[in-house]
Amino acid sequence: MYFEINTAQAKQEAEDLHTLARRIDTNVFYISALYVSLRLVGAPSIQYVVKRVQKQNAALAQESRRLHAMGTSLNRIADYYYNADAEVARKRAITGSVLNDVFYKRNTNASTSEMDELINKFEQEHPEYAKKLDKLLDTDKENMLTEEDIRRIKYLAYTAEEPYRSIYLSMLGRYVIGNSNLEKGAYYRPYEHTINFTYKDCFENDPRGPYTTWFHESGHGIDDLAELARQDGFDTDDFVGRSKGMDRDVTISEAIEYDVYYNKNNPHSVTSLANDIINKGKSGSKGNINNVIEAFKKGTSDGLSKEDRKLFNAVKNAHQRESGSSPAMEAVTDVYGGASKNALQNSTFGRKGYTHKDSYWDDQKNTSRELWAEYFSYQMAGDKEALQNLREYFPEAADLLEQYANGLATR
Ligand SMILES: [Zn+2]
Repeated sequence: MYFEINTAQAKQEAEDLHTLARRIDTNVFYISALYVSLRLVGAPSIQYVVKRVQKQNAALAQESRRLHAMGTSLNRIADYYYNADAEVARKRAITGSVLNDVFYKRNTNASTSEMDELINKFEQEHPEYAKKLDKLLDTDKENMLTEEDIRRIKYLAYTAEEPYRSIYLSMLGRYVIGNSNLEKGAYYRPYEHTINFTYKDCFENDPRGPYTTWFHESGHGIDDLAELARQDGFDTDDFVGRSKGMDRDVTISEAIEYDVYYNKNNPHSVTSLANDIINKGKSGSKGNINNVIEAFKKGTSDGLSKEDRKLFNAVKNAHQRESGSSPAMEAVTDVYGGASKNALQNSTFGRKGYTHKDSYWDDQKNTSRELWAEYFSYQMAGDKEALQNLREYFPEAADLLEQYANGLATR
């Protein structure tokens, strides 16, 4: 269930009205003080102006009182709405409603006791989810998860923004931890329904942000098991949504291909980078864009003419220069690599990090599975910078992922 009216936003707007009114009050106060000192001095014409100004000032004070009253009313309406919503949610055991946005708002600097308080409150209201999450966190045979890991995972899960929180919670119980103490890497194993991790890299010390990998592998599990677009296998393989930029219904991997190669509104697409090189007359400017795109899809410049090869290399260098090597660019590095058999990948970072071998990308459906897992993990763990990068490099695909998430939340 997802409510359109947002009481948190109404409360914020009420607060903004009060702030605005207070700002006016301050000015009214100064003008009144000026009036008191000016009303007895100067020529009659000045006196006339001073009186007029004071009259306007009084009108302004009246406006300010109205704004205060509006703020108070809006606040009251938000409270009424909240209470009604809480009542409905309690009776029908609905989660993910607007009330969560008010009380389960994440504070990135929360202390241990603040986290515990919120966790306790949430778990009292949602004992069924508490039970399922406890069970998941306890399925690890190696039992590597510390009390702090459990606290942080719960806090992130319970304070994630909707619809991601509901998606995560509603899928608990469908998959378990296989092993959290691998030698290296992390993966979801479809035929066992397990998520698996290297303890030291995937929990609190995850270089991409604490618990990002935890939610990444969970995202694969959800994709596999939610059965929104298909009964067995990964939903993101088949999910179809509307692409505004392409002006038709497409799969997520079609949107990825469009963003990586053709999207002129994406300054990072191969077409945009190649056009820039051609327009500036740089090395490679005599190459043919279509030939270069086809070569990237095969992952090699073998067989290209001399000029096309120059353009291929120039695009590759431009991509590597702008995409850099920070962990917040990991979705970009991995999936641009995925769409090009790793030809478009920043090898200085990619091969060492969380990216995938060339052969993994023989199946282009893996691009949509990976982009979803990245997107979901950023939403859950609150990796704002990484999310921003993903949206910037995959404008159409990010839109499709949002449609997929909304589909999961309302299925
Ligand atoms: Zn993955």
